[in-house]
Amino acid sequence: MDTENIIIINGLKCSFSKNETILETALRNGIKIPSLCYLSNTVSTGKCKICLVEIEGEDELVLSCQTVSQHGMVVKTDTPRIAAARRARLEELISSGHHNCLVQEMDINSWTDFQRDAMAPDIHRTLCPAYGECRLQDLAIQYRARPVKAAKITAPPVEDVNPFIVRDFSRCILCGRCVKACNEVQVNRVINFNESESKVITKDDLPLKDSNCVFCGECVQVCPVGALVSKRDFEIHTKPNTTKKIRTTCSYCGVGCQIYIHVKDNQIVKVTGVDNFGPNRGSLCVKGRFGFDFVQHPARLTTPLIRKGKKLKEATWDEAIDYIANKLGYLKDKYGPDSIGVLTSARITNEENYLAQKFARAVIGTNNIDHCARL
Ligand code: SF4
Ligand code: SF4
Ligand code: SF4
Repeated sequence: MDTENIIIINGLKCSFSKNETILETALRNGIKIPSLCYLSNTVSTGKCKICLVEIEGEDELVLSCQTVSQHGMVVKTDTPRIAAARRARLEELISSGHHNCLVQEMDINSWTDFQRDAMAPDIHRTLCPAYGECRLQDLAIQYRARPVKAAKITAPPVEDVNPFIVRDFSRCILCGRCVKACNEVQVNRVINFNESESKVITKDDLPLKDSNCVFCGECVQVCPVGALVSKRDFEIHTKPNTTKKIRTTCSYCGVGCQIYIHVKDNQIVKVTGVDNFGPNRGSLCVKGRFGFDFVQHPARLTTPLIRKGKKLKEATWDEAIDYIANKLGYLKDKYGPDSIGVLTSARITNEENYLAQKFARAVIGTNNIDHCARL
């Protein structure tokens, strides 16, 4: 451990790198500091003001995302003073908009754990699509924050005039994570704060469908509340803990993005990127994130078809493979191997593409092998 770059966080000696903030040092050393606006690998803005910590010798609490670690600092991340400050800030946030889940409507102090866990989703799930998967809600429960005043909802109505994303401005806490995701992570530069920093807008405040948005959904993935949700989530309100998350590789192209498919009743209801793993580190394109209907589409071909006369007839895989092998053998014998060409696909894996070229060269005996990306 570098003895020149050490801070003590909650009694634990932590090494830090040059220009690293206290929040980053803590996270890297496995110490959680709550935040609603921090987004790794982007410039920190200190908007949510939840990540407050105490530094020995300092009168005021400081934002750990805005304070650079310095050798010898002694930091505490969880004291009654910090908890009170976080609670006050959370109370401002839940009172700032349409947060009509249990934190807004119920006296959560009178709720039992059972009620909170078992009853709340059924009562409130229809009200907010983020219910049970909302960082603001989690922190409000953790810090027992209550609304301090009735929220004045002045936000414009929900914008859902596109096939993929629903924007509910009344639930936006102006954390700016979507702005960072769009500008710094995806570099699409479609959304930003308006001049008074009271709303996240596209150029000229147009709906997403009329802007340069490419519907990558990065903003949806990082929104910590129910202000940005996928249309499917908005419509079907999948309850938390009722879906199974399965990790797999996106089938759309050869990049090999790592995804979680969220499955309920054997149907895919959502796709999210796997954070912190290459090649995509959580990011996806519109196809990978939203284009999953084909998997369970009733028109999807699931058995081979062989043309008989003018009709396509269903066949078994053995029948289809025999048929193709016979035809290819016949063509090769009659016209030579170069009469055959093999076209592969960006929708299959590198390994499958490798096998296809092996098949063309070693089995058929031709170099007529190409890929759809060059067509
Ligand atoms: S955004 Fe979060 S805090 Fe607000 S209503 Fe939805 S679940 Fe509750
Ligand atoms: S979907 Fe992608 S391009 Fe559109 S606003 Fe969100 S992050 Fe930007
Ligand atoms: S839409 Fe979501 S991510 Fe964007 S500023 Fe509002 S709360 Fe934050």
